Amino acid sequence: MGEIADQSLRDVEYTHRWYRVFLERLQSDGYRFRSFDDRLTDGDLVARHDVDLSVGAAVEMAHIEADLGVQSTYFLLVSSPLYNVFERETREQIAELEALGHDVGVHFSTHTYWPADEQPSDSDLLRAVRREQAALAAVANAPIETISFHIPPAWVLDREFPGLQHTYEPQFFSEIDYVADSSQRWRDQHPLADELGAHVQLLTHPGLWGETDAPFAARIEQAIAAACRDIGDLTRREFCVEGPVAVATTAEVSEESDV
Ligand SMILES: [Zn+2]
Repeated sequence: MGEIADQSLRDVEYTHRWYRVFLERLQSDGYRFRSFDDRLTDGDLVARHDVDLSVGAAVEMAHIEADLGVQSTYFLLVSSPLYNVFERETREQIAELEALGHDVGVHFSTHTYWPADEQPSDSDLLRAVRREQAALAAVANAPIETISFHIPPAWVLDREFPGLQHTYEPQFFSEIDYVADSSQRWRDQHPLADELGAHVQLLTHPGLWGETDAPFAARIEQAIAAACRDIGDLTRREFCVEGPVAVATTAEVSEESDV
């Protein structure tokens, strides 16, 4: 590992405190935080978040960034099994991300549509992406055109698709310093081990970070537990206002229930 002068950054902790110090370091190194819509010049950094696990965790990170005057982009997994962008609380959280000055865009899972080793035609890919962008546009104020691919299959890496801007195309991937916290790999590979270049893309996954440190597997389990709890709370509130579920007669069910 290269020399990490700042003692508080030396050992990577997946905590909000560490993330804040890390951003401050990038700012003091002179990086400007830009949007994927900007034309990058020397000293520009695009900060991206793939929201795989928790929109609530994204909002926490978004507040830290806004505090520091950092602008970033949150890519929402429209096909997520853990959250639903149309659900009210999630819509409010997406509005909060935008109100804090950040961009939002689609985190697109090819795996929802095609096996990883089966590349669709460009037109099939574009059609599926446009559908999910339309879905996000229904709940966000101004989603950006750029998408990020979820668990990217090899056929998306370092290539361009007609009519589609994405975060793994050469200008944001091979032609730039690309630094990602995937699977909490920074514990072994410090993001500042090598000096960063003139253009940087920084990827972090908000769900891997928290108030206190925790390993990758624990974060996954925390996200599953939180999502299950939220689903339970929302569903009980919606259907069990009077407390325990009442046993309805068949006639009542057919007349009154749309479940
Ligand atoms: Zn992802």
